[in-house]
Amino acid sequence: MKALVKERAEPGLWLVDVPEPEVGPGEVLIRVLRTGICGTDLHIRSFDAWARQTLRTPLVVGHEFCGEVVEIGPGPEGATDIAVGDLVSGEGHIVCGKCRNCMAGRRHLCRNTVGLGVNRDGAFAEYVVLPASNVWVHRTPVDPDIAAIFDPFGNAVHTALSFPLVGEDVLITGAGPIGLMAAAVATHVGARNVVITDLSPERLAIADKLGVTLALNVGEHPISDGMARLGMREGFDVGLEMSGNPRALRDMIATMTHGGKIAMLGLPAEEFAVDFATIVTSMLTIKGIYGREMFETWYNMSVLLEKGLDLSPVITDRFSYRDFDAAFDTAASGRTGKIIMDWTA
Ligand code: NAD
Ligand code: ZN
Repeated sequence: MKALVKERAEPGLWLVDVPEPEVGPGEVLIRVLRTGICGTDLHIRSFDAWARQTLRTPLVVGHEFCGEVVEIGPGPEGATDIAVGDLVSGEGHIVCGKCRNCMAGRRHLCRNTVGLGVNRDGAFAEYVVLPASNVWVHRTPVDPDIAAIFDPFGNAVHTALSFPLVGEDVLITGAGPIGLMAAAVATHVGARNVVITDLSPERLAIADKLGVTLALNVGEHPISDGMARLGMREGFDVGLEMSGNPRALRDMIATMTHGGKIAMLGLPAEEFAVDFATIVTSMLTIKGIYGREMFETWYNMSVLLEKGLDLSPVITDRFSYRDFDAAFDTAASGRTGKIIMDWTA
């Protein structure tokens, strides 16, 4: 089968023929239909310091995908509700099932998490194998492009639903694909003002299509300008940090109301200083978010879509997997929404 492989410990990815993965006990073989490109995949292609430290080659990359079940392995613990032909997405965090958090049902907190397309062969391929317990079956109709991005959609939903949003003023820093989806969710579930910031006019224009209250270019206006325009006097109730940028978190801390809650998904590249005196005296809560809750976030995602959440503006470009370099270059531009690769075209 064709697969996009990190063959050597150097920048680049290679589209090569590799053996089809074998389906073991408790596993499911999936024919990949569509995949999404994540920032992680860009790090793997450019082979930055994180990738050099983390990866073992050769590795089939990719973790955002949807596909069709073609085979169910023997001894299907938990696979009884999966059928050949089902449209499925995959939870890319494979957990141990044995640590204290796993045993208590807090699988998103497993210390032994293995990442699809990072620590084991991934989904940028014609076929992928996953444990049955990591397979999410779509029981209601869903566009395969959207099904392909359930992983980052789950990051957005996990973050956005970390704190109650109904009637709240919400600040989202970073209008990358995940910030955009979080903005759509916050608007859909009944936040009062949803303000999203970025430096990219193209990304802010996508946010406008999602019905946010205000898409603010922080290269041109401080957040306080936006608050004044909306008649906000006390600060944001909830902050969703989706950029990993130090200035964004500092701006957020400075514009939260007393008792405000921050959910932080953005991954900073290195340590940086923040105003802890304000965190203390304003009694802010800051919660780190990693991955998706298994499988409460997945349930939330399916129901949000069923109840009319429209993510279609978030997907801006589609490529055949054969044109992967162009697809990756487009994703790396930082000016688009989500990029989809089609594995059937
Ligand atoms: P992305 O890099 O595409 O988007 C980040 C956006 O932040 C960019 O559009 C950038 O222009 C913007 N930005 C930069 N500085 C800013 C500032 N000062 N104010 C406002 N916006 C600013 O990333 P993404 O794929 O949407 O992911 C969002 C973040 O979440 C990234 O940091 C990523 O590493 C992280 N992430 C975390 C997890 C997790 O499990 N915690 C999972 C996936 C991604
Ligand atoms: Zn575990």
